[in-house]
Amino acid sequence: MNLAQLTIPQIQQGLKDKQFSAVELATEAAQFAAAENPKTNAYITLSPDRALATARLVDEKIARGEDAGALAGVPVAVKDVIVTKGVRTTCGSKILANYIPPYDATAVERLEQAGGLVVGKANCDEFAMGSSNENSAFGPVRNPVALDRVPGGSSGGSAAVVAQGTAVVSLGSDTGGSIRQPASFCGVVGVTPTYGRVSRYGLSAYASSLDHIGPFGRTVEDAAALLGVIAGRDEWDSTSAAAPVEDYVAACRQDVRGMKIGLPKEYFAGLAAETGDIIAAAVETLKSLGVEVVDVSLPATDYAVACYYIIATAEASSNLARYDGVRYTHRSDSSRTLAEMYRNSRGEGFGAECKRRIMLGTYVLSHGYYDAYYLKAQKVRALIAQDFARAFEQVDAIVTPVSPFPAWKLGEKVDDPVAMYLSDIYTITCDLAGIPGMSVPCGATPEGLPVGMQILTKHFDESGMFRLAGAFERARA
Ligand code: GLN
Repeated sequence: MNLAQLTIPQIQQGLKDKQFSAVELATEAAQFAAAENPKTNAYITLSPDRALATARLVDEKIARGEDAGALAGVPVAVKDVIVTKGVRTTCGSKILANYIPPYDATAVERLEQAGGLVVGKANCDEFAMGSSNENSAFGPVRNPVALDRVPGGSSGGSAAVVAQGTAVVSLGSDTGGSIRQPASFCGVVGVTPTYGRVSRYGLSAYASSLDHIGPFGRTVEDAAALLGVIAGRDEWDSTSAAAPVEDYVAACRQDVRGMKIGLPKEYFAGLAAETGDIIAAAVETLKSLGVEVVDVSLPATDYAVACYYIIATAEASSNLARYDGVRYTHRSDSSRTLAEMYRNSRGEGFGAECKRRIMLGTYVLSHGYYDAYYLKAQKVRALIAQDFARAFEQVDAIVTPVSPFPAWKLGEKVDDPVAMYLSDIYTITCDLAGIPGMSVPCGATPEGLPVGMQILTKHFDESGMFRLAGAFERARA
């Protein structure tokens, strides 16, 4: 078997034809991941025993002639901000370096019930804060496509493991682009579902009103299959939606003739030709499939970065208050008083980016600045959502670039946090509006760096997004 190229349908067929067993898949994935990890540092923790235990159950079910589930025998990596019972979950932070969760996130529970094999915990920016995966306390991830480049962030590990093939699909989290941007940088598919589509139970909170769990895959259908398994109402997350979960895999196979897409002019002005030409060619491909293309405008886009970094840091400053050294986090042992213990534990445990965001978030929420910053940002957020609602009266989907530029060199932007924030311009509006979005590979620069195309649709219209993405992928093949 060549794990690096297997798709979910091929695994299903291979298990059926007895080409391999789930235990063999788990063993191969564990060996492959252990061999690859020194090159990319994409996993923080490997969990071969857990993968094997599920694999045995899958093989037993198959032997009894039972349905082993939609993800039977599929090696899956899980971003290390999503908790796994008994398997260390660090959030990429020193403050949780030794944290072993007592429960599973709903998404993890569901994917294992469907026969998925959790092979390891993927590296990420500390508490999902970053755009390059260089903010991890466990070291940066290298992009498997170009080892001197970043894989994107914050779900850089989740994208890298799928690109290198040590996992067939993976779970990431997206608050402001952290699934779509690394998917674009590593040349894989990454999906941010509608806010509330997937339960956040067991996702370590960064900015709760923006946080999503979503899938990565090497093909559109694989990502759709994983989303289908993890989506749906969950009584443990009151913000999870009861909207019916459609057959996303079937959606990928539908025809797109007659669909109408909008190109927002704000997302193309000033875009470097390197990326712009590739997206333009992708749009031509969509046209050749019978998709109608019109121009649309999303005028509030200019304010999105400022708005996002106020709301996200405000929520983060509150969410990260729970890591206090008292219960399950790193505790400084060099303190004389309780107050000193809090200060030292947090001071030693959090990295520079988390501290920057806690300070920024605390500031924008403080008396006297709340109205000027936080409240204003909430109003801008409403305008951004309105822009999309208006555009979707005219079109079925919106197509844009994912990132202004492809993967940059490791270290290139680490000293300039604002430049790093600005690179999120095309992805954060989707999270602010709560609509679904995805990145589909659409080409590469002359240097061979992957470029993704972003597809955005209305709330809960993941099917429309998969329909376009599936047809586009087939047209490119
Ligand atoms: N780069 C953005 C940030 O640092 C997005 C992160 C994310 O989506 N988790 O906040």
